[in-house]
Amino acid sequence: MVSRGWYEKVADSIYRLAMSYGVKFHFEEPVVKIEVENKKATKVITNKNSYNADLVIVNADYAHAELDLLDREYNTYSEQYWNKRVMAPSALVAYVGVDKKFDELAHHTLFLDKDWSKGFDTLFDPKKAAWPENPSYYVNVPSKTDTTAAPKGNDTLFILVPLAPGLKDTPEMREQFYNKIMDNLEKTIGQNIRPHIVVKKIFALTDFKERYNAYKGTALGLSHTMMQTALFRPSHKSKKVKNLYYSGHYTHPGIGVPMTLISSQIVAEEILKEYK
Ligand SMILES: Cc1cc2nc3c(=O)[nH]c(=O)nc-3n(C[C@H](O)[C@H](O)[C@H](O)COP(=O)(O)OP(=O)(O)OC[C@H]3O[C@@H](n4cnc5c(N)ncnc54)[C@H](O)[C@@H]3O)c2cc1C
Repeated sequence: MVSRGWYEKVADSIYRLAMSYGVKFHFEEPVVKIEVENKKATKVITNKNSYNADLVIVNADYAHAELDLLDREYNTYSEQYWNKRVMAPSALVAYVGVDKKFDELAHHTLFLDKDWSKGFDTLFDPKKAAWPENPSYYVNVPSKTDTTAAPKGNDTLFILVPLAPGLKDTPEMREQFYNKIMDNLEKTIGQNIRPHIVVKKIFALTDFKERYNAYKGTALGLSHTMMQTALFRPSHKSKKVKNLYYSGHYTHPGIGVPMTLISSQIVAEEILKEYK
């Protein structure tokens, strides 16, 4: 896990490079429909505008694009297909700012429950999917090394608890779960953290769904099971719409920033080959 600053620099470099090639970006403008005529994507319709298209590349959540943006007849994969996929975990992420330094915490710490396999079952066994009783979790304190992450003398905590995708997520449930984690963390490090909190933001399943249109609230897309790897991942090219392509973590090679960059490279090469 690397700090936000690093990620911002990668995104910013790609943004500036694209601009130098004449790319125009339209932010805060979600796509609501991809219109198809004669098996060709002809228009991308957003909540503000409609754009004519010669070619469409979707990098949004693949299942969302197929099920919500295209008419059913243009889906390469059915609703049932998506429902049967093994989705990668979701998460509850707590962003916490505190008014002191916690020397008891390292930059990166994994807190594993004694009986950690039980918690992992709630994550990976769909029959046992639930908010775990005794969760294992990860705490990152970026302010340990990044002076821009918190004011001097303060710390920033990033607490991540993996959760099964598709779980019910209400404000009460996440608050209760957050307090369970905090009880455990405070007990383990022997320090009260909560009285020192000046900023707190929780991000969980519903946010992944609402903000990113992430299918079943997954944080990471499609799991890397044997039957969802390499050529078994959803295709980079639509099988129903001639000029429609897909990149991103659902496609080959898969999850992670470097992998998604490779997926874009694969799509770009495929398009160059086809359209010369
Ligand atoms: C908490 C967390 C920590 C992670 N840590 C790491 C790490 O340390 N290293 C690493 O390599 N990977 C990490 N990952 C994984 C990595 O972030 C993903 O694999 C990667 O971002 C996937 O890229 P993507 O472009 O496929 O999808 P995304 O980054 O999800 O981009 C898709 C974009 O499409 C947008 N979108 C969705 N629907 C629409 C629509 N209708 N119209 C317009 N836009 C839409 C979404 O808002 C989103 O911005 C982490 C993920 C999480 C959640």
